[in-house]
Amino acid sequence: MENVFLWLALLTLSLPPALDQWRAEIESAGGVPVYVAEVEFSADGGQMTLPDATPARPLFAQYLRQEDFVRQFVLMRGVLIHHQGPDGQAHLVLLNGARRPEWGAHRDALIAHEFGHAWLRAKGYPAPVFQPGPLACLAIHTGDIVQHVLIRREMEARGIDHLALWLASLEAATAGAAVLPDNEGMAKIRAGDPCLALRQTAEWADVRLGFAGSRPEIVESYEVEMRRLFPDLEPAVSAIAEAVRSRKVEDHQQHLDALRQVNALLRRLVDDLANPDSP
Ligand SMILES: [Zn+2]
Repeated sequence: MENVFLWLALLTLSLPPALDQWRAEIESAGGVPVYVAEVEFSADGGQMTLPDATPARPLFAQYLRQEDFVRQFVLMRGVLIHHQGPDGQAHLVLLNGARRPEWGAHRDALIAHEFGHAWLRAKGYPAPVFQPGPLACLAIHTGDIVQHVLIRREMEARGIDHLALWLASLEAATAGAAVLPDNEGMAKIRAGDPCLALRQTAEWADVRLGFAGSRPEIVESYEVEMRRLFPDLEPAVSAIAEAVRSRKVEDHQQHLDALRQVNALLRRLVDDLANPDSP
C-alpha cells in the first residue's frame, strides 16, 4: 500500500505554499479553476504523455491533440491556456517536459509566471484580441509586454524568485547569439518571419522594462548581442519601453492605453520591415 501511495505522490505536481496560495486567490477572484500539468515527450519527440494522475487530464489532452497548438508549444517552456468550452472554463498551465533542462531548476518561477497571466485575467485586466492569420502572434506579444510588468511586480511582492530563471534565459540567448554573424537576426526576419521580429522585440522590451536601474553584467552582454543581430529592432524596443513606462499599467484604463500603443508600435515595426524603402 505504501508503494502505491508513493507512486501516486510522485505523479502529482506539488506546489510550494506561496504558489498554492496564489492559485487559491486566482480561483476565488475569477471563479475559474487553475490546473498545472507537465507533458513528457518521447526521446524522438514524436509522442507526448501526460501522467494518469494529472488533474483535468482530458482538458489538457484536448489541446495536445491540436497540431497548431503543439507546433507553438514545442517552442515554449510553458504556456497558460484559458480554456472555454461547453464543459466550463479553466486556466491550464502546461509545462514542456522536453525543455526541462532549461527550466528544471526554476520550475516554481515558470509556474508562477503562468499564474501571473491567469491572475491578471481573473482581475479583469483587458487583453488584446487574438486574430488568426500570419500576425496571430501580435496579440500574444502585445499582451506579454504589458502584463509582464505587473507579473514581475506581483512575484516580487509574493517573495517568488523569478530573477534566476530570467537571467538563465538571457544567458542562454546571449550564448546562442554570440556565435552568429552581424545582422543575422535581421536577415532571418527579412526572409519572411514577422513573428520572429515581434518575439525578439518583446523579449528585448521586457529586459528594458525589467532592468531599469542597476543591471547585471549578463543584461549588458545580452543587449550588445541583440544590437549586433537585430539592429533595426532597437528603435521599436525603446519606443515600446517608453510607452509602457510612462503609464501606470496597474490602472485598467492606462493598461488598455498601453496595450493599444504597444500594439500600434509592433504593427508599425512589421510594416517598416516589410517596406524598408518607404519613408
Ligand atoms: Zn508571459
